[in-house]
Amino acid sequence: MACFNQPYRHTFSDTTSAPWSPAKVVCVGRNYADHVAELNNPLPEEPLLFHKPSTAITSFSGRLALAESMGEHHFETEVTLLIGKPLKNCDAGDALDAIAGVGIGLDLTLRKVQADLKARGLPWERSKAFDGSCVLSPFAPMTSAIDLQNLTFRLWRNEAIAQEGNTAAMIFPVTTLLQEISKFFSLLPGDVIMTGTPKGVGPLVLGDRLRAEIDKLVVADAVVEYSSD
Ligand code: ZN
Repeated sequence: MACFNQPYRHTFSDTTSAPWSPAKVVCVGRNYADHVAELNNPLPEEPLLFHKPSTAITSFSGRLALAESMGEHHFETEVTLLIGKPLKNCDAGDALDAIAGVGIGLDLTLRKVQADLKARGLPWERSKAFDGSCVLSPFAPMTSAIDLQNLTFRLWRNEAIAQEGNTAAMIFPVTTLLQEISKFFSLLPGDVIMTGTPKGVGPLVLGDRLRAEIDKLVVADAVVEYSSD
């Protein structure tokens, strides 16, 4: 059987391909207070980090195929960062310099599976790192004109706003995240960071028409369908 994400390549919003193969995805949980509250979780004292493997990545484009047998897939709309330079124990300046692109993505979550794992004190991977769980738009090339802590982003579902946030509301800003992440996990070109979701998460339904966007920067569209496997 072919690897799930073989066709996926990182691309920039001008349709050029990024020169790096997709690699690991480091995700940040509980980085917006309104979402922490909606799931009745405690506010974090340090960034909550978890991973998705490269095999979790799929394009936010065209059809978004979900495995119905795995149960409800919740959407979490998140600003994503494409890493273009190695980072280890970095400072804030190095962190900013290593960001090659900014995108929008969905951290798909099997919420019932996650709730069961959390209740038993077990790792979340089954609910967060499965094939297709990381849905990535093309990346806008990073420039000095982009203020990473003032990006308005939203998810439209069937012409209604399902989630809307601004990165100013992050509990831990991007440079803090990259400094903390790179203490534990070396970041390499082709890695992606998912920076957390604001409130409004919920289950996807067959036929949902999704549009995710960062104002004036990135837009991506997909329709939810069930995969045949
Ligand atoms: Zn998330």
